Amino acid sequence: MSDQLLADRTSLFDTSGIRKVFDLGAKLKDPINLSIGQPDFDVPEAARRAAIEAIESRKNSYALTQGAPVLREKLAAQVKRQYNHDDRELFVSSGTSGGLLLALMVLVNPGDEVIVFDPYFVMYDSLPALVGGKTIHVDTYPDFRIDLNRVADAITPRTKAIFFNSPANPTGVTADDETVRGLAELAAERNVVLISDEIYRTFAYDRPPVSPAKYNPRTLVVDGFSKTYGMTGWRLGFVHGPAEIVREMIKFQQYTFVCAPHPFQWAGAAAMDLDMSAYVNDYRRKRDMLLAGLADDYEIVKPEGAFYAFPKLPWGSGLEFVTAAIEKHQLLVIPGNVFSRADTHFRISYAADDRVIERGVEALRELARNRP
Ligand code: PMP
Repeated sequence: MSDQLLADRTSLFDTSGIRKVFDLGAKLKDPINLSIGQPDFDVPEAARRAAIEAIESRKNSYALTQGAPVLREKLAAQVKRQYNHDDRELFVSSGTSGGLLLALMVLVNPGDEVIVFDPYFVMYDSLPALVGGKTIHVDTYPDFRIDLNRVADAITPRTKAIFFNSPANPTGVTADDETVRGLAELAAERNVVLISDEIYRTFAYDRPPVSPAKYNPRTLVVDGFSKTYGMTGWRLGFVHGPAEIVREMIKFQQYTFVCAPHPFQWAGAAAMDLDMSAYVNDYRRKRDMLLAGLADDYEIVKPEGAFYAFPKLPWGSGLEFVTAAIEKHQLLVIPGNVFSRADTHFRISYAADDRVIERGVEALRELARNRP
């Protein structure tokens, strides 16, 4: 196709580096796959049944844009119990991703700035440019803790928002209470919207994650069902925050996504009654198994949540290391520069079968000790 037909924004993005690893992996016969950014468990049976029941009872038409009452009211009641903010409005989005895009669509003017902590979830880096804004990176190496002074320095009159994600992708790091409070207060003082992506909230192994909404009622929380219930393909998320922002997001949803998938909203409502603690305990065990296996050979900041670890590369560039991992062991991990401007680390996902983690640990130990 002629370049003249395509909008300039198409040149802003390269194919996600994760996709490149997936494409390589697809050619391998028996890969050790530690690259996947989703749970390895399926949707629990009760939620699957609720989805089937919703489809069979003909809940297949559009839902209300702001969400089917069955789910929206249940979520709103939960959020009300949690925060009791007067001005907090909620809607159901097409995944957390849908919520993140709509947030930037209603907040960012051309030239406005959005602060992103590096390393970051890939979408945070690209979304500001998609709406004509600019990403401002704040480095969190080497311990992936947020330095509030650096954040304060990065805020300018053009700063509209800060993306915050705890537990975090790709590091698994969970921010401590003091940091969350400091960041929440800083955002309030400087009149910047703190967008808190809480999609990994359930996967917390050592202490419950704190939401900045606890300390700043104007926090915009973006959350979703994908990871908690293993339903990434069902595209279900929700957003709650200051009514004036959320109402605009609902308006934009009407003209873009229209609504989140209707039958799955019924299933999401059913899923909210499930106790996922056995799944979380199992992932804690997997995390401990991975950390113990790699302790002698890798520098790793202990991940307290999500299902990722982000070790330092033992040698070489990310591409060199990942290529050796694939060629020598059919091992799939993601080079850190997919999530960062630095090329010093790599991401492991331990949302995998125990045997796959064991094989991955063996391969990684061999790789650290023998540079090809
Ligand atoms: N936020 C983060 C931090 C994620 O890791 C992901 C999924 N990889 C998403 C959002 C997107 O989730 P969803 O499936 O709800 O769109």
